[in-house]
Amino acid sequence: MKKIAVLTSGGDAPGMNAAVRAVVRYGVRHGLEVIGVRRGYSGLIDGDFVKLEYKDVAGITEKGGTILRTSRCEEFKTEEGRELAAKQIKKHGIEGLVVIGGEGSLTGAHLLYEEHKIPVVGIPATIDNDIGLTDMCIGVDTCLNTVMDAVQKLKDTASSHERAFIVEVMGRHSGYIALMAGLVTGAEAIIVPEIPVDYSQLADRILEERRRGKINSIIIVAEGAASAYTVARHLEYRIGYETRITILGHVQRGGSPTASDRRLALSMGVEAVDALLDGEVDVMIALQGNKLVRVPIMEALSTKKTIDKKLYEIAYMLS
Ligand code: ATP
Repeated sequence: MKKIAVLTSGGDAPGMNAAVRAVVRYGVRHGLEVIGVRRGYSGLIDGDFVKLEYKDVAGITEKGGTILRTSRCEEFKTEEGRELAAKQIKKHGIEGLVVIGGEGSLTGAHLLYEEHKIPVVGIPATIDNDIGLTDMCIGVDTCLNTVMDAVQKLKDTASSHERAFIVEVMGRHSGYIALMAGLVTGAEAIIVPEIPVDYSQLADRILEERRRGKINSIIIVAEGAASAYTVARHLEYRIGYETRITILGHVQRGGSPTASDRRLALSMGVEAVDALLDGEVDVMIALQGNKLVRVPIMEALSTKKTIDKKLYEIAYMLS
């Protein structure tokens, strides 16, 4: 193998740059030519390629976002689009492709292998942490720290004004961020897509805690479970006072990656190149316990990640 390529796709996640750096530098150290594909699958279809040398990825580990840029590419979801992408890969003599992204991006990578036998290796990077067979995805830890800081600040003002705050966080299908953020900030309630919510019970709890002297209430809701406005509507008439709403939105995607995300991304990047060199393709690099392993992409994508119900109960008990 002489030439490989790397791309970032889907929603950006802090740590993607560190993964790109590892792929480029480890690849170059192994005598490979490494091509960066700009704008994810859109760039793959257009042939928007740039040769990346060792020095081109200097100083990017600490940067949020992705220097390669990313995109959501509808054309790649069609067989014709993937055929165009495969033609570009073959035309440029690329013998292996590392795809860094979430569930959709990894599905695309698998199809590229299945339909055109392009050797692909996936790296899970999404702040939702919703990919199966890996304990952690790149970007999750940084996102969680951002949410934790924001909630901590809201707690200060919530206490001063004796208010209830509803904080909406990311997580379309997964309540992971909401659960973990709720646990580490001691939120009164955590609303996640995986567990139905009883608003009457929740209101009773908030009122009971008020009676016991608690001066602030933080309710964290994952966007996929309900909007903060819906939660507010359900709660306000039951508790009898106004709530305040904060939707954290895209700040959750940004920022310099934490040490943990950098380490995960750098080691996954190295492992992805090793997998290509070993000829082990159509696999995703996964963290299981403290070890990196290679799992078939489709097996990871078809394994549903469930929320840790015990942790959910613990968060509730400790709040
Ligand atoms: P995030 O979890 O941050 O949203 P993601 O990788 O899941 O990241 P998507 O928008 O779902 O983000 O997917 C990124 C890109 O991957 C899509 O724009 C498309 O080009 C490709 N893709 C997604 N789903 C498929 C699919 N079923 N078949 C082929 N390609 C796909």
